[in-house]
Amino acid sequence: MATDGAADRRRPPPQTLSAGNNGNCVMSLSNRLRLMPNKDHKAESYEDLEQLEFSPLLFSSLERYLPPTMLNASRDLKLQYMRDILLRYSPESERTRVQRHREYRQKIITHYQPLQRELYTLQAEKFFVPSFLRAISENTEDSFRSILSEPSPGVYTFEMLQPDFCDLLVTEVENFQGWVHETNFRVMRPNTMNKYGCVLDDFGLETMLDKLMEDFIRPMSKVFFPEVGGSTLDTHHGFVVEYGIDRDVELGFHVDDSEVTLNVCLGKQFSGGDLFFRGVRCDKHVNSETQSEEIFDYPHVPGHAILHHGRHRHGARATTSGRRVNLLLWCRSSVFRELKKYQKDFSNWCGECKREKKERQRQSIAATKLEILKINGQTA
Ligand SMILES: [Zn+2]
Repeated sequence: MATDGAADRRRPPPQTLSAGNNGNCVMSLSNRLRLMPNKDHKAESYEDLEQLEFSPLLFSSLERYLPPTMLNASRDLKLQYMRDILLRYSPESERTRVQRHREYRQKIITHYQPLQRELYTLQAEKFFVPSFLRAISENTEDSFRSILSEPSPGVYTFEMLQPDFCDLLVTEVENFQGWVHETNFRVMRPNTMNKYGCVLDDFGLETMLDKLMEDFIRPMSKVFFPEVGGSTLDTHHGFVVEYGIDRDVELGFHVDDSEVTLNVCLGKQFSGGDLFFRGVRCDKHVNSETQSEEIFDYPHVPGHAILHHGRHRHGARATTSGRRVNLLLWCRSSVFRELKKYQKDFSNWCGECKREKKERQRQSIAATKLEILKINGQTA
């Protein structure tokens, strides 16, 4: 299989893999919010409220942007205030889509009988390996570095999930797929490119995955992905994908609709299926050439996680035998997405913006040198 730069240049441009119908909650900051958050303000939890149009986490993260007079208002008032702003920026069609999706989820949750109930509430000791738990509870860059490796810049791998948890999750997914098949339910696939697999958030695992993102992925992202909103991750899209001869075989070159992506192999027995990475890019540079130092391939190991920038261009090679199941968590930051709208230079994370900036600096230094030589020449 070709992994050289020349083959990359022939590679078709990466697609943006999006959640399709599952949507995306991007909010706009209006002049009724402050540009800078009040860092000392402790935001309330909105998790207990049912039937919110927007994610409870979104309200919690938005709260610190409220004007000072609103910060100490009652939770209901704050909710109303933030809801008004969010609705103003969310078009009718988007609201209809959100409403339909809520009804879709409701239909599943009323009729689907979960098999492994213990999966639906996060139980850290049962889910995670001890080394991962220790590193997270210490919550320092050193503790994270002690359990992970960074085989290529911006790609972090570490052992994360207990084998028993992986098995339970796969069994639950199989049970859900069985129910979908039996009842002929028209199920939504996880994204625009995978034909197999399912959205975990749609059948009741949203709260558990929210907690996983908040308590376990955000602390690491805060350290390793600060330039793309790693510390303000507030929404997620959680799903599993299945690869094999009778499933999706491979996945084309793409970028994810996420700021930070967590990808954990759940098993089972398989060969092939390596991930290939080809550099982080902003929207403008998504099709630009790969530099040789950006080429990186990663073989999956069951229970092991890989954490990368969502805009890190990648794909999955063919799973040549057996069956591979992976858990994906696309973590998003509404604040980062909003601020990104007003920026053009992404040289703090886009490989190509960085290269262009260096080139501009090189040219400017060369020009200055030439000027100095000229002046010296004249005065000599
Ligand atoms: Zn760029």
